[in-house]
Amino acid sequence: MPRVAPELKKGLQGLRGDDLEFRCVRKDGSVFWLSASWVPIKDAKGVFTGFRTSGRDVTDRKQAEAELRIAAVAFDSLEGMMMTDASSVILRVNKAFTEITGYSAEELVGQTPRLIQSGRHGKDFYRAMWEDIRRTGGWQGEVWNRRKSGEVYPQLLSISVVKDLDGTVTHYIAAHHDISDRKNAEERIKELAFFDQLTGLPNRTLLLDRVGQTMAASSRDGSFGALMFIDLDNFKMLNDTLGHDMGDVLLKQVAQRLSACVRDGDTVARLGGDEFVVKLAGLGTVAAEAAASAETVADKILTDLNQTYQLGSVAYHSTPSIGVTLFNGQSVAIEELMKQADLAMYRAKAASRNTIRFFDPAMESVMMAHAALERDLRQALEEHQFVLHYQAQVAGDYHLTGAEVLVRWQHPERGMVWPDDFIPAAEETGLILPLGHWVLQTACAQLTVWAARPETADLTVAVNVSAQQFRQPDFVAQVLAVLASTGANPQRLKLELTESLLVSNVEDVIEKMVALKAQGVGFSLDDFGTGFSSLSYLKRLPLDQLKIDKSFVRDVVTDPNDAAIAKTIIALAQSLALSVIAEGVETSAQRDFLAQAGCPAYQGYFFSRPVPLEDFEQLCAAGLSAPAGV
Ligand code: C2E
Ligand code: MG
Ligand code: MG
Repeated sequence: MPRVAPELKKGLQGLRGDDLEFRCVRKDGSVFWLSASWVPIKDAKGVFTGFRTSGRDVTDRKQAEAELRIAAVAFDSLEGMMMTDASSVILRVNKAFTEITGYSAEELVGQTPRLIQSGRHGKDFYRAMWEDIRRTGGWQGEVWNRRKSGEVYPQLLSISVVKDLDGTVTHYIAAHHDISDRKNAEERIKELAFFDQLTGLPNRTLLLDRVGQTMAASSRDGSFGALMFIDLDNFKMLNDTLGHDMGDVLLKQVAQRLSACVRDGDTVARLGGDEFVVKLAGLGTVAAEAAASAETVADKILTDLNQTYQLGSVAYHSTPSIGVTLFNGQSVAIEELMKQADLAMYRAKAASRNTIRFFDPAMESVMMAHAALERDLRQALEEHQFVLHYQAQVAGDYHLTGAEVLVRWQHPERGMVWPDDFIPAAEETGLILPLGHWVLQTACAQLTVWAARPETADLTVAVNVSAQQFRQPDFVAQVLAVLASTGANPQRLKLELTESLLVSNVEDVIEKMVALKAQGVGFSLDDFGTGFSSLSYLKRLPLDQLKIDKSFVRDVVTDPNDAAIAKTIIALAQSLALSVIAEGVETSAQRDFLAQAGCPAYQGYFFSRPVPLEDFEQLCAAGLSAPAGV
């Protein structure tokens, strides 16, 4: 009988094939695995004499197998697990992964993880992720993915790289941990920390943060921002009479109205009680314009918050007091700014309530003057305080060809007001539309009167049309209606447009010009050279005339640059087959220079100042044989 150690004997009982594996202990106590084969040895007569044994140390393989078993168990953990090959093709997913994503294993295997991408992260995100994986052998972070249902969810993703002995990447293992719940909780915490529970508006903390950001941006780009304190007048009385629930309903409605008054990027916050704050950003780099924009928003808020509220079955009227302060950069601390707006708000309360006050009194007086001008302008339109003056347009040697009509405001207290002092306000308030219409109407009516008299029958009238007026969708129809109602000859009407009109939607401008031109109306491009003119547009506009701006004419005799510009405009007009007229001609030297340069038509004090109708008609009767006026 062969001598077999007791433990081998025991092992032999389980013998299935040739090899048996034994867990052995070395003399030094360390454990190893032995794979042994047993070959029976027989003598010449075929009698069994023993075993020939050979053994191999298989400790490494046994360990690898154990690790695989552990890995398999780990893979089937509660975390979503996904294994891909080196080119990111999914080889295996666990049950948790299919539960998280909603896809079955069959649907996933063979695909790439792109299948579950949410589209919320850009290329740069994934590029940085892969860069990290290559550099460090793994990546961990929060990723938004998309379930099969289409729902986008947040998850914590850890990716590990598996390499073979040569260091070549063979697999990627990704562990997905759905963190929707945690995210929701975080959101909720954020909501509690940064938002007012009643209205859902940002609270003081978030407001201060946003104001800080806006101030930082403002110190970078120089643009103004504004802070507005809004307090509801007599809110306490509502609470006391109708109860706090009604008070809450009002506050919610106020919050909605305020939010509707501002643009994206502005902030409406509630500090508590009936105190709201609005932060405006990006109001431009000019203080007066920023103040005007802030006032426009404050006005809108005042109007909107004055509309009746429906509190259950009660129709309720509430008014606000508004304090405004402007800021630029970070020169004033946030808390100081809040105090300024608060102070201004108290001044609004002290004044009469239901009103707006600026922190800066100088700003306020500018605003008050602005508001007064707007009021006066409306009244002026109603009370027909505008008049037209006529300035002669002259060709060659004092031949009067027509007039430009220039509007003046005969103010009952201030006397004659010039257009530069009220046209900008008229444009801002939209009052330029009725005013411009009146000018057109009056000028066309005059053309008809003149048509009946031999000495004025050939005169043209040039009417200034503001960009806003021209951009009205029905501008063409308006002009045609005026021509029809007054019976004016369209051939005698010339509309003066400015280059500002060409900044946007040139196609629309061309279309309108073509339509009017087809009826005989002429066009002159006013103040030419001072604004934006693309030569390619110029070629396409159906213009009749370029008008050299008076700023070039003023020094045309003494300043070589102005002389060059004037000559260039004249040459340009000639090459485009347009007529050209110079405005602001004040001296014979200017006229002579322009005449020599090829400009055949003029307008300016040298010939006549803009004068009332009677004076202009006298001029027509007397003829322009000698320069009138200065
Ligand atoms: P504009 O159309 O360029 O008008 C020419 C301005 O130059 C007029 O100023 C005129 O009085 C002035 N002017 C004429 N000759 C001379 C001169 O020899 N020297 C100098 N220094 N100035 C001269 P005004 O009347 O104050 O009008 C200013 C601007 O107001 C006009 O510039 C025009 O843009 C606008 N405007 C006037 N009336 C109307 C109107 O009815 N509608 C619109 N939309 N704008 C108008
Ligand atoms: Mg003009
Ligand atoms: Mg002009």
